[in-house]
Amino acid sequence: MEIDLENFNKESKSEYSSHVKLRARLRKVKPKVLDEMFEELHEEAFREIDCLDCANCCKTTSPIFLNTDIDRLAKSFRMKSSAFIDEYLHRDEEGDFVLNSSPCTFLGADNKCLVYEDRPKACREYPHTNRKKMHGILELSLKNTLVCPAVFKIFQQIGKDYRK
Ligand code: SF4
Ligand code: SF4
Repeated sequence: MEIDLENFNKESKSEYSSHVKLRARLRKVKPKVLDEMFEELHEEAFREIDCLDCANCCKTTSPIFLNTDIDRLAKSFRMKSSAFIDEYLHRDEEGDFVLNSSPCTFLGADNKCLVYEDRPKACREYPHTNRKKMHGILELSLKNTLVCPAVFKIFQQIGKDYRK
């Protein structure tokens, strides 16, 4: 079932300030406990959400393209890496390679990634909520509550426990 992204945008914005406060409280949680909490809720969120019903990350943000990603994708297109960069990428303010356009050029009309096997590492790991050392990416995860319905759901669920 297609996710109602318009409604998600409204809800995630309206709950953002409470999630900012929640992030401050999460900073005090022990690292292992925080990692386990996120991992469990990540699994729970993705049991309910199918990315093919969403693709909001691919529609609204760009992954970072590492040199290894560029080389792999260029090879699959039988292009030189420099030509791939010229065609699709530019450097952002941090100096990382990102897409020239949004939604992602490689997103199909059916929300499938046209370069799935060769997609960037950042795409494989997004939304980064089932990894270790979640303390280091709490700020990024907070921002991702505005992009990813699964991250939003995770924050909502944690909030129910931590605002008690
Ligand atoms: S990772 Fe999040 S934003 Fe991306 S498609 Fe899946 S649910 Fe949507
Ligand atoms: S490369 Fe594929 S997974 Fe990554 S943003 Fe583009 S469409 Fe999405």
